[in-house]
Amino acid sequence: MVCRSTNRGAATAKTNGGIKMKAWLYYRLSRDEDAEMNSLQNQRQILVDYAEQHGYEISGESFDDNVSGMTFERKGLHQIELAVEDGKVDVLLVKDLSRLGRHRTRTALFIDYLRENNVKVYSVTEGIDSSNENDDMIIGFKQLVNDFYAKDIGKKVRTGIRQKQKTGMTVNLPMGYYKDRNTGEVLVDETAAAIVREIFEKFFAGYGLSTIAKDFNRRGIKSPEYFSHRKVGAQRTQMCKKFLWVQTTVKRIIQNEAYTGTLVNHKTVTSKIYKTVDVIPPEEQYRHENFMPAIIDKETFEQAQILLESRLKNHARAKFGSVIHRYCGMIKCAECGASLIAKKRTVAGHSWVEYTCNSNHRYGNEYCTAHTIREPQLDEIIHTELAMLRQEILDSSQKYDEIVKDWNKKKPKYDKMIKEYSQKIVTLNGQIEELIMERIGDREHAKVYNSMIEKREAEIAELTKKIEECRKFDELSKKRRDELMSTAELLDEVLLEPYISDANMRLLVRKINVHENEDGSLDVSLEFNGDFKDTSTGCFEIND
Ligand SMILES: [Zn+2]
Repeated sequence: MVCRSTNRGAATAKTNGGIKMKAWLYYRLSRDEDAEMNSLQNQRQILVDYAEQHGYEISGESFDDNVSGMTFERKGLHQIELAVEDGKVDVLLVKDLSRLGRHRTRTALFIDYLRENNVKVYSVTEGIDSSNENDDMIIGFKQLVNDFYAKDIGKKVRTGIRQKQKTGMTVNLPMGYYKDRNTGEVLVDETAAAIVREIFEKFFAGYGLSTIAKDFNRRGIKSPEYFSHRKVGAQRTQMCKKFLWVQTTVKRIIQNEAYTGTLVNHKTVTSKIYKTVDVIPPEEQYRHENFMPAIIDKETFEQAQILLESRLKNHARAKFGSVIHRYCGMIKCAECGASLIAKKRTVAGHSWVEYTCNSNHRYGNEYCTAHTIREPQLDEIIHTELAMLRQEILDSSQKYDEIVKDWNKKKPKYDKMIKEYSQKIVTLNGQIEELIMERIGDREHAKVYNSMIEKREAEIAELTKKIEECRKFDELSKKRRDELMSTAELLDEVLLEPYISDANMRLLVRKINVHENEDGSLDVSLEFNGDFKDTSTGCFEIND
């Protein structure tokens, strides 16, 4: 890219009001457009020609290369500002308005800034003059088109490339955020953010959604509705006092990924004709990572989703004011199938939570035995079992590792086998053809031929399967080993903490069965979620 001198006098010095107008040239090449059509050289030439034809004095020029129109952090634009402040610019020349920016409001703000400094913008190929009031509409319209264009590009590159632009969308910010009026930057509203954090903390501490909501109402904590209306105008806050917290308000906050800083757009499509709302699959939504500062870290957010899902599934809804106990809804009596219910016990100043068979609790010893187990005992069992599970996983991943190594050694042998099997299939197919021919000439013995053909067909099927197995074997071994390794890593992280969090525990353990033996001792068996399930079900004996 060659750019010649930045200060070039106009060839035909036409004057405007006796004084030559000072023109600044600006051109931009975006990384997401056709470089041929809009090359910097090409854009520059158009502007120089225009300036010469209209008798402007070119006072300077600046450009941005490979920069998206959505960002306004551009060296070239900054140079314009400096030149404007130095009084070097009367008119800014651009090939088309999209050179200036593809972000409608930001571009409009920039044009406004130039206007305030008595600088006009000429869009050379579009014939738009920013000083002409009538062109305002065209500018607005063009900006709208540019806006859509940029979004369209965003759609094309959304897979693989993380979109970097932080600006460019008008969004309804969730409670906890506000937009700086001057810079457009999304910032944290600390008062509201503290409420959001408290919700997550309370939720992890075991409080139910409606308990949190009721507690907030009792304490007079402002609801998200209050915060959204506050943005509109202070006078409305009086009216908004009536907005209260409900269970869904709390749930929506826990589920809102925006709190991790990731903005997800285009989640639904509303049809104005049919008045329907369609949910867009996650892969077609626009994700903008680090769109705003995080209030909740990603890990906490993900754990909250698991915990939320698990609580909803287990219907573990606590009564108002009560805490949901750690193993609530997932611990069952092996004898009668009832859930074990939590009770808080205090003996001599020492208190703990224990779980008892609900049938025993309700109908007494005649119906089912107590099956009483204390929470710390369960914690210990799970911790021990997870540690054992981790070791087993490591051992078996080593086994797969050896299989992969072994495979590499044996590969030539397997290749040879595949070749042999393939040749055999060719031979068998030839034989089948011959048998079919013979069958035609010897109809009397058709049955014999048929069985001979069938036998060969079965052989071919068998060989084809063997070939497949040979080919897939190493692939599957590698995959399984990687899966196991990542599982072991996850367990490492979980076990690093002295106390396994509720969310992690529910992530790993699906169900706990408690069986009471004749002598009153308990057997506890754990069922693990997902990947863990085929690896182990532990059995423990407790003598209490
Ligand atoms: Zn029972």
